[in-house]
Amino acid sequence: MVLYIGVIVVADRPKILVVEDEENLARLLELELSEEGYDVVVALDGINGLSAAREHSPDLVLLDVMLPGISGLEVAARLRKSSNIPIIMLTARAESEDQVKGLDAGADDYVVKPFSIEVLLAKIRAQLRRTRPGAEGPIRYADLVLNPQTREAWRGTKRLDLSAREFDLLELFMRHPGRVWGRMEIEERVWGEYGESNVVDVYVGRLRRKLEEAGSGRLLYTVRGAGYALRERL
Ligand code: CA
Repeated sequence: MVLYIGVIVVADRPKILVVEDEENLARLLELELSEEGYDVVVALDGINGLSAAREHSPDLVLLDVMLPGISGLEVAARLRKSSNIPIIMLTARAESEDQVKGLDAGADDYVVKPFSIEVLLAKIRAQLRRTRPGAEGPIRYADLVLNPQTREAWRGTKRLDLSAREFDLLELFMRHPGRVWGRMEIEERVWGEYGESNVVDVYVGRLRRKLEEAGSGRLLYTVRGAGYALRERL
């Protein structure tokens, strides 16, 4: 099933096949990945996963280890016989045995459930950079340019001097222009956890100051009672 949720369909969006029998998790991944700009195909078991891989030629497979019928390890091994498509295993346990078996079966990487969506997205981007070099060009919004590959950003002709977190924060905003991000969401996405602190406000404040020193006009707005958004006007 392919779902488009509030995104503009553009040519050459990477396609991700999710093979996961926990339907809630499969649908959550479908939603998150669609929002991130990927085309998503979901299969709820290994047999359907293999046929979906043949039918849809995905650019990457997210593959659960524990599947009914044939296991994720077997699916990985069969996929590997005919293709070098990136495979990220979703492992249920932190035990290293599963991860070693997954990598032995031909997987490129793994995440351990429960995983942070941001960690998974970073691993997906890393795999796609490897197999689709140059496919992910610079991201632009207003007079901002951000290059995820070199981790450089500019406003107009001025290069922004950003810390790693500030860069991640700007990347999050630039991947979703106009979207309002709550503090909790930002903390989960950029820091990978949520704590009771004003760290987000501090970092957004710093990033906003750096953006405004490099060019004219506000781009990072506070949306009262809701959070922050990258916009050309509030
Ligand atoms: Ca499972």
